[in-house]
Amino acid sequence: MSVITRFAPSPTGFLHVGGARTALFSWLFARRHGGRFILRIEDTDLERSTAESVNAILEGMTWLGLEYDAGPFYQTQRFEYYKQIIQRLMAEGHAYHCYCSKDELENMRNEQMARKEKPRYDGRCRHRTAPRAGVPPVVRFKNPVAGEVVVDDMVRGQVVFKNTELDDLIIARSDGTPTYNLTVVCDDLDMQVTHVIRGDDHLNNTPRQMNILSALGAQLPRYAHVPMILGSDGQRLSKRHGAVSVMQYRDEGYLPEALLNYLVRLGWSHGDQEIFGLDEMIRLFDAGDINKAASTFNPEKLLWLNQQYLKNSDPQHVAHHLSYHLGKLDIDPALGPDLVEIVKVQRERAKTLVEMAHASVFFYRDRVAYDTAAVAKHLTADVAAPLGDFRARLGGLGGWQTTAIHQVLNAVAETHGIKLGKIAQPVRVAVSGGTVSPPIDATLWLLGREKTLARIDAAITMLSGT
Ligand code: GLU
Repeated sequence: MSVITRFAPSPTGFLHVGGARTALFSWLFARRHGGRFILRIEDTDLERSTAESVNAILEGMTWLGLEYDAGPFYQTQRFEYYKQIIQRLMAEGHAYHCYCSKDELENMRNEQMARKEKPRYDGRCRHRTAPRAGVPPVVRFKNPVAGEVVVDDMVRGQVVFKNTELDDLIIARSDGTPTYNLTVVCDDLDMQVTHVIRGDDHLNNTPRQMNILSALGAQLPRYAHVPMILGSDGQRLSKRHGAVSVMQYRDEGYLPEALLNYLVRLGWSHGDQEIFGLDEMIRLFDAGDINKAASTFNPEKLLWLNQQYLKNSDPQHVAHHLSYHLGKLDIDPALGPDLVEIVKVQRERAKTLVEMAHASVFFYRDRVAYDTAAVAKHLTADVAAPLGDFRARLGGLGGWQTTAIHQVLNAVAETHGIKLGKIAQPVRVAVSGGTVSPPIDATLWLLGREKTLARIDAAITMLSGT
């Protein structure tokens, strides 16, 4: 039997990190076992589902690289199929029409509460033989009245539910539309899902879904319920804790691999290894190693991982992502130094692609944005002579290589009896506007002769005006 997993988000918001982790685990499990991974959009809640949310989910999956082998399937396009299953359950005596009114259900509930019983539908319409005139009925599933359902969960182990605790669930509303538990069951069955990996907020639905599947004579999938993610205050992770949307991490300058690596470790471990390439994750991932306890989201660790990935990934790959962030700053990366070289000189000091982009802007802009404090501190009158000398020697350089540039800097420092920093820092302010940039020789080399000389000239003019 080949493995089939699915990710089945409800499109009622963006793709959040919890959903992305569920998707990742399902994807990894399928990849690990040479199986298939399906994307299913559970959009039957017409009031809450939006097209923007569907797009946000698809965008998030694409950015993360969690490609699916089938889908996206939309539940709203499958109503005919659900209807058939409901009819089949009715015809085979596993479901029935219920005509109970709101008031009746309310009274039932109040009486049960008065008797200190757990409120549940008591099945009174099970034996009704005639319809109630003028009342459109709902359809309820005939849950077994005795026995137990054992969820043999891959994360939790055996979780036992008594059938007496499960009442007769509504599977179709009075307008005929199917309910959540029914659509999930129909689709998991039709799509031949073998392993359902999802958040543990669904654990209570599982025995109900298993009962419906059994009534349909279906083979049951295996289940893995993944514990939730908490914020640092121990509360369920939410917007209050900062970014929870996957695309917000892109916008904040994270590499998708870093986020995936962070997410895989959030609730799963392999010894104390922290860094996993995708291939390694696929090779090592085992749903049985998912932690039973909730995990706490740690933004610092994610940032640390991002830095590791910026430093150690193929610079070409990082450049590809960096160009997106430069684009957001209205910079066309084609109109400046080779982006791969930029990455090579910048990646030691940037924690995010956003930082890297901001620190690289001066390479691309025509006008230098001077930091006034840096200018006041480093472009002082005493710098005029060495800077002028540096300009003259640089202008006479035959080639334009970092070593030659470095030699010129050393020679100027020596001639004027000053420390290297005393010339390097003014040059840095002149070309970048501020005091932070990659090593000065590499900076000038990347910036190119023409821009470098023009910016030093501008600084000299500024100096002579003071
Ligand atoms: N649509 C459900 C949700 O977004 C998931 C259902 C499932 O995985 O079975 O929570």
